[in-house]
Amino acid sequence: IVKMKGMNKYFGKLHVLKDIDLTVEQGEVVVIIGASGSGKSTLIRCVNGLEEFESGTLEVDGQKLAPKGGNQQALAEIRKEVGMVFQQFNLFPHLTVRKNIMLAPMKVKNTSQVVANATAERLLERVGIGSQADKYPNQLSGGQQQRVAIARALAMEPRLMLFDEPTSALDPEMIGEVLDVMRELAKEGMTMMVVTHEMGFAREVADRVIYIHEGQIVEEGRPEDVFDNPQNERTQAFLSRVL
Ligand code: ATP
Ligand code: MG
Repeated sequence: IVKMKGMNKYFGKLHVLKDIDLTVEQGEVVVIIGASGSGKSTLIRCVNGLEEFESGTLEVDGQKLAPKGGNQQALAEIRKEVGMVFQQFNLFPHLTVRKNIMLAPMKVKNTSQVVANATAERLLERVGIGSQADKYPNQLSGGQQQRVAIARALAMEPRLMLFDEPTSALDPEMIGEVLDVMRELAKEGMTMMVVTHEMGFAREVADRVIYIHEGQIVEEGRPEDVFDNPQNERTQAFLSRVL
Protein backbone atom coordinates (compact mmCIF):
# COMPACT_ATOMS: atom_id res chain seq x y z
CA ILE A 1 0.00 0.00 0.00
CA VAL A 2 3.08 2.25 0.44
CA LYS A 3 6.03 2.19 -1.94
CA MET A 4 8.97 4.56 -1.54
CA LYS A 5 11.89 4.32 -3.87
CA GLY A 6 15.09 6.34 -3.73
CA MET A 7 13.38 9.07 -1.76
CA ASN A 8 15.44 12.09 -0.70
CA LYS A 9 14.34 14.99 1.43
CA TYR A 10 16.19 18.15 2.40
CA PHE A 11 15.45 20.97 4.79
CA GLY A 12 17.60 23.60 3.11
CA LYS A 13 21.08 22.10 3.11
CA LEU A 14 20.21 19.45 5.66
CA HIS A 15 19.82 16.07 3.96
CA VAL A 16 17.13 14.55 6.18
CA LEU A 17 16.07 11.43 4.26
CA LYS A 18 18.65 9.61 2.17
CA ASP A 19 17.64 7.22 -0.59
CA ILE A 20 14.79 5.68 1.32
CA ASP A 21 13.42 2.45 -0.12
CA LEU A 22 10.45 1.23 1.86
CA THR A 23 7.44 -0.89 1.06
CA VAL A 24 4.51 -1.47 3.38
CA GLU A 25 2.06 -4.22 2.53
CA GLN A 26 -1.63 -4.05 3.28
CA GLY A 27 -2.32 -5.25 6.83
CA GLU A 28 1.27 -4.84 7.88
CA VAL A 29 2.36 -3.06 11.07
CA VAL A 30 5.70 -1.32 10.60
CA VAL A 31 7.36 0.29 13.61
CA ILE A 32 10.02 2.93 12.98
CA ILE A 33 12.66 3.52 15.64
CA GLY A 34 15.72 5.72 15.81
CA ALA A 35 17.42 8.50 17.75
CA SER A 36 16.01 12.01 18.05
CA GLY A 37 16.54 13.94 14.83
CA SER A 38 17.12 10.83 12.70
CA GLY A 39 14.18 11.62 10.40
CA LYS A 40 11.37 9.39 11.69
CA SER A 41 8.69 12.09 11.76
CA THR A 42 9.78 13.48 8.42
CA LEU A 43 9.54 10.02 6.89
CA ILE A 44 5.97 9.36 7.95
CA ARG A 45 4.91 12.95 7.26
CA CYS A 46 6.00 12.41 3.66
CA VAL A 47 3.56 9.51 3.39
CA ASN A 48 0.52 11.74 3.64
CA GLY A 49 2.12 14.73 1.97
CA LEU A 50 2.65 16.86 5.07
CA GLU A 51 6.24 17.16 3.86
CA GLU A 52 7.40 17.42 0.28
CA PHE A 53 10.42 15.48 -0.94
CA GLU A 54 13.06 16.43 -3.48
CA SER A 55 13.63 13.24 -5.45
CA GLY A 56 12.53 9.64 -5.75
CA THR A 57 9.06 8.17 -5.98
CA LEU A 58 6.30 7.63 -3.48
CA GLU A 59 3.15 5.68 -4.11
CA VAL A 60 0.37 5.40 -1.54
CA ASP A 61 -2.65 3.21 -2.19
CA GLY A 62 -2.08 3.36 -5.93
CA GLN A 63 -1.66 7.17 -6.03
CA LYS A 64 1.72 8.46 -7.15
CA LEU A 65 3.06 11.55 -5.42
CA ALA A 66 5.60 13.57 -7.37
CA PRO A 67 8.59 15.34 -5.80
CA LYS A 68 8.21 18.98 -4.69
CA GLY A 69 4.51 18.72 -4.03
CA GLY A 70 3.59 17.83 -7.58
CA ASN A 71 0.33 16.04 -8.31
CA GLN A 72 -2.13 17.80 -6.02
CA GLN A 73 -4.92 15.50 -7.19
CA ALA A 74 -3.09 12.44 -5.87
CA LEU A 75 -2.34 14.29 -2.65
CA ALA A 76 -6.02 14.98 -2.06
CA GLU A 77 -6.87 11.32 -2.66
CA ILE A 78 -4.10 10.13 -0.36
CA ARG A 79 -5.22 12.39 2.48
CA LYS A 80 -8.67 10.78 2.35
CA GLU A 81 -7.16 7.31 2.71
CA VAL A 82 -4.53 8.00 5.36
CA GLY A 83 -5.26 8.80 9.01
CA MET A 84 -2.66 10.39 11.25
CA VAL A 85 -2.25 10.60 15.01
CA PHE A 86 0.35 12.96 16.51
CA GLN A 87 2.14 13.27 19.80
CA GLN A 88 0.05 16.36 20.56
CA PHE A 89 -3.55 15.32 20.09
CA ASN A 90 -4.51 18.33 17.94
CA LEU A 91 -8.21 18.12 18.79
CA PHE A 92 -10.40 21.15 18.11
CA PRO A 93 -10.76 22.68 21.59
CA HIS A 94 -14.04 24.50 20.83
CA LEU A 95 -15.81 21.34 19.64
CA THR A 96 -17.17 18.46 21.71
CA VAL A 97 -15.59 15.05 21.32
CA ARG A 98 -18.57 13.97 19.22
CA LYS A 99 -18.25 16.99 16.89
CA ASN A 100 -14.49 16.51 16.61
CA ILE A 101 -15.15 13.07 15.17
CA MET A 102 -18.09 14.06 12.95
CA LEU A 103 -16.37 17.03 11.31
CA ALA A 104 -14.12 15.48 8.67
CA PRO A 105 -16.55 12.85 7.31
CA MET A 106 -19.25 15.54 6.93
CA LYS A 107 -16.92 18.06 5.33
CA VAL A 108 -14.74 15.85 3.16
CA LYS A 109 -17.02 12.91 2.37
CA ASN A 110 -20.42 14.60 2.56
CA THR A 111 -21.53 12.10 5.16
CA SER A 112 -24.93 13.00 6.63
CA GLN A 113 -25.15 14.24 10.20
CA VAL A 114 -27.12 11.17 11.28
CA VAL A 115 -24.59 8.75 9.86
CA ALA A 116 -21.60 10.76 11.11
CA ASN A 117 -23.10 10.83 14.59
CA ALA A 118 -23.72 7.08 14.61
CA THR A 119 -20.15 6.49 13.45
CA ALA A 120 -18.80 8.78 16.17
CA GLU A 121 -20.71 6.89 18.86
CA ARG A 122 -19.58 3.52 17.54
CA LEU A 123 -15.93 4.61 17.40
CA LEU A 124 -16.02 6.13 20.88
CA GLU A 125 -17.31 2.81 22.22
CA ARG A 126 -14.54 1.06 20.37
CA VAL A 127 -11.81 3.17 21.97
CA GLY A 128 -13.45 2.76 25.37
CA ILE A 129 -14.87 6.26 26.00
CA GLY A 130 -18.47 5.96 24.88
CA SER A 131 -19.67 8.03 27.84
CA GLN A 132 -17.51 11.08 27.02
CA ALA A 133 -19.07 12.13 23.71
CA ASP A 134 -20.41 15.48 24.84
CA LYS A 135 -17.41 16.67 26.79
CA TYR A 136 -14.86 19.09 25.44
CA PRO A 137 -11.26 17.93 24.91
CA ASN A 138 -9.91 19.86 27.90
CA GLN A 139 -12.32 17.97 30.17
CA LEU A 140 -10.60 14.69 29.32
CA SER A 141 -7.33 13.12 30.42
CA GLY A 142 -4.44 12.95 27.97
CA GLY A 143 -5.02 9.27 27.36
CA GLN A 144 -8.70 9.90 26.66
CA GLN A 145 -7.87 12.78 24.31
CA GLN A 146 -5.46 10.61 22.37
CA ARG A 147 -8.13 7.93 22.05
CA VAL A 148 -10.49 10.58 20.68
CA ALA A 149 -7.78 11.53 18.18
CA ILE A 150 -7.56 7.91 17.08
CA ALA A 151 -11.35 7.68 16.76
CA ARG A 152 -11.37 10.90 14.75
CA ALA A 153 -8.83 9.48 12.30
CA LEU A 154 -10.77 6.21 12.04
CA ALA A 155 -13.98 8.08 11.19
CA MET A 156 -12.58 8.70 7.71
CA GLU A 157 -12.27 4.92 7.23
CA PRO A 158 -8.58 5.15 6.39
CA ARG A 159 -6.72 2.37 4.61
CA LEU A 160 -3.53 3.31 6.42
CA MET A 161 -2.88 4.82 9.84
CA LEU A 162 0.24 6.81 10.71
CA PHE A 163 1.22 7.29 14.35
CA ASP A 164 4.00 9.69 15.36
CA GLU A 165 4.96 9.02 18.99
CA PRO A 166 1.31 8.84 20.08
CA THR A 167 2.17 8.13 23.72
CA SER A 168 5.16 10.42 24.22
CA ALA A 169 3.14 13.29 25.67
CA LEU A 170 1.17 11.08 28.06
CA ASP A 171 1.59 10.46 31.76
CA PRO A 172 2.94 6.94 32.25
CA GLU A 173 -0.31 5.54 33.63
CA MET A 174 -2.15 6.52 30.43
CA ILE A 175 0.25 5.04 27.93
CA GLY A 176 -1.19 1.54 28.28
CA GLU A 177 -4.75 2.48 27.38
CA VAL A 178 -3.62 4.10 24.13
CA LEU A 179 -1.32 1.21 23.22
CA ASP A 180 -4.24 -1.16 23.90
CA VAL A 181 -6.36 0.63 21.30
CA MET A 182 -3.50 0.49 18.80
CA ARG A 183 -2.94 -3.20 19.52
CA GLU A 184 -6.64 -3.88 18.84
CA LEU A 185 -6.47 -1.96 15.57
CA ALA A 186 -3.48 -3.99 14.48
CA LYS A 187 -5.29 -7.22 15.36
CA GLU A 188 -8.24 -6.16 13.24
CA GLY A 189 -5.89 -5.90 10.27
CA MET A 190 -5.30 -2.15 9.99
CA THR A 191 -2.17 -1.20 8.06
CA MET A 192 -0.06 0.94 10.39
CA MET A 193 3.20 2.87 10.37
CA VAL A 194 4.16 3.71 13.93
CA VAL A 195 6.99 5.86 15.26
CA THR A 196 7.41 4.99 18.92
CA HIS A 197 9.86 4.60 21.74
CA GLU A 198 7.68 1.86 23.28
CA MET A 199 9.93 -1.07 22.52
CA GLY A 200 7.63 -3.58 24.27
CA PHE A 201 4.82 -2.57 21.96
CA ALA A 202 7.13 -2.75 18.94
CA ARG A 203 8.28 -6.22 19.85
CA GLU A 204 4.77 -7.50 20.41
CA VAL A 205 2.76 -5.81 17.67
CA ALA A 206 5.14 -5.00 14.79
CA ASP A 207 5.44 -7.27 11.80
CA ARG A 208 8.58 -5.37 10.91
CA VAL A 209 10.86 -2.93 12.71
CA ILE A 210 12.86 -0.30 10.86
CA TYR A 211 15.82 1.47 12.42
CA ILE A 212 16.72 4.87 10.98
CA HIS A 213 20.08 6.52 11.54
CA GLU A 214 20.76 10.01 10.19
CA GLY A 215 18.10 9.70 7.51
CA GLN A 216 19.01 6.23 6.34
CA ILE A 217 17.36 2.90 6.96
CA VAL A 218 20.29 0.96 8.34
CA GLU A 219 18.41 -2.05 9.62
CA GLU A 220 15.05 -3.67 9.15
CA GLY A 221 13.54 -6.99 10.02
CA ARG A 222 11.24 -8.97 12.27
CA PRO A 223 11.16 -7.51 15.80
CA GLU A 224 12.75 -10.58 17.35
CA ASP A 225 15.66 -10.34 14.92
CA VAL A 226 16.18 -6.58 15.23
CA PHE A 227 15.87 -6.52 19.03
CA ASP A 228 17.67 -9.74 19.91
CA ASN A 229 20.26 -9.88 17.18
CA PRO A 230 20.83 -6.45 15.59
CA GLN A 231 23.32 -6.61 12.75
CA ASN A 232 24.26 -2.96 12.44
CA GLU A 233 26.49 -1.45 15.12
CA ARG A 234 24.38 1.73 15.16
CA THR A 235 21.30 -0.33 15.94
CA GLN A 236 23.20 -2.19 18.64
CA ALA A 237 24.31 1.06 20.25
CA PHE A 238 20.81 2.55 20.07
CA LEU A 239 19.13 -0.52 21.53
CA SER A 240 21.65 -0.83 24.33
CA ARG A 241 20.67 2.72 25.32
CA VAL A 242 16.89 2.26 25.18
CA LEU A 243 16.26 -1.37 26.18
P1 ATP B 1 12.40 13.04 17.25
O1 ATP B 1 12.63 11.65 17.78
O2 ATP B 1 13.08 14.07 18.08
O3 ATP B 1 10.95 13.32 17.01
P2 ATP B 1 12.75 12.58 14.40
O4 ATP B 1 13.50 11.32 14.13
O5 ATP B 1 11.28 12.54 14.27
O6 ATP B 1 13.17 13.11 15.83
P3 ATP B 1 12.63 14.67 12.44
O7 ATP B 1 11.64 15.50 13.17
O8 ATP B 1 12.14 13.91 11.25
O9 ATP B 1 13.37 13.66 13.43
O10 ATP B 1 13.82 15.63 12.01
C1 ATP B 1 14.91 15.21 11.22
C2 ATP B 1 15.88 16.37 11.05
O11 ATP B 1 15.25 17.39 10.28
C3 ATP B 1 16.31 17.02 12.34
O12 ATP B 1 17.66 17.40 12.20
C4 ATP B 1 15.43 18.24 12.45
O13 ATP B 1 16.08 19.25 13.16
C5 ATP B 1 15.22 18.61 11.01
N1 ATP B 1 13.92 19.24 10.75
C6 ATP B 1 12.71 18.71 11.04
N2 ATP B 1 11.71 19.52 10.64
C7 ATP B 1 12.30 20.61 10.10
C8 ATP B 1 11.80 21.81 9.49
N3 ATP B 1 10.50 22.04 9.36
N4 ATP B 1 12.72 22.70 9.05
C9 ATP B 1 14.06 22.47 9.16
N5 ATP B 1 14.57 21.35 9.70
C10 ATP B 1 13.73 20.43 10.17
MG1 MG C 1 9.72 12.99 15.55
